[in-house]
Amino acid sequence: MSCSREKKVIFIGGTSYSGSTLLDMLLANSPSGFSCGEVYAMFHPFRKHHVDPACGCGDPQCNIWKHLKRQGPKKLYHSIFEMFPEVDCIVDSSKDPMWIRDRSNDLAGSGIAVRNVLIWKTPQEFHQSRKKRHQEHRWESEWINYHRHYFSLVDEWISLPYAELAKSPRTLKILCERLQIPWFEGKEAYWEKRHHTLFGNTSAKIHLYDKESKQFQQCRQELSGQDRNEEKGELDSATPYKEIYYQAPQDDMLQDPSGHYRIMADIENILVNSSLYSEQSVIRIAREKAGHLRASRVYRTYRRLRQAAMSLKGAIAGF
Ligand SMILES: [Zn+2]
Repeated sequence: MSCSREKKVIFIGGTSYSGSTLLDMLLANSPSGFSCGEVYAMFHPFRKHHVDPACGCGDPQCNIWKHLKRQGPKKLYHSIFEMFPEVDCIVDSSKDPMWIRDRSNDLAGSGIAVRNVLIWKTPQEFHQSRKKRHQEHRWESEWINYHRHYFSLVDEWISLPYAELAKSPRTLKILCERLQIPWFEGKEAYWEKRHHTLFGNTSAKIHLYDKESKQFQQCRQELSGQDRNEEKGELDSATPYKEIYYQAPQDDMLQDPSGHYRIMADIENILVNSSLYSEQSVIRIAREKAGHLRASRVYRTYRRLRQAAMSLKGAIAGF
């Protein structure tokens, strides 16, 4: 297929555990792609491992992020294009709507195109991901607030249901066509490429590493720590390796003691209709509806203050 050679940055949005790291590496899996992962956290560290981060490629000598950090967030994508002349598509799965908005503004008028993909899980799927990690507290609010915040700050996006991506390789082909980036038979085997992906989801990154490597063992340990229901040995044999798989949610019905269902249904409707399978007119209406669900100014201010507080906390803690 023909692909445009224009340089572009694809921003991936999504809640936690939405499959954003997986999508990042899938889209970047070609010689002209580059996966950033959650690069936002390198510039706004709120955990210790965000400072002086270990590169996703697993090579302790790799210092591309050191170099890129020195250039600053405004020059990030320009610097990557400069470092890797073969790259014309950068994928950034930082997800933070403010980061996406600010970086998109920086890129406006630079000749580098911006595309937005919002990957999402249904409330049932999201609840299952949180439950598995014993993080059920306020899961409804997180799902609702993330999407409303995204709708407030990002104008044009295409949505992608996580389940479609995980279940059907055809989805990746259609998405690549829509984004005008290369697609080839076998592109879903993202572990075939050496990615420098920062941070992100361990279940997606473990496939990058050989079973004998230190990085693989670290991922394994992290996953067995999260998934306390499973014995370590069981995890080893049951978890597929170098394979994309989908686990359907076990709870068909969710309890709704907090009365969140109406707004969840409204958001889900927008996500379904702004999908890459929808007609342009349907997408337009979905985006208009999203306009009504924008997060309040108070909430947006709260997010900004929270971010500043987290960075300050990091600075005081010495990282
Ligand atoms: Zn690297």
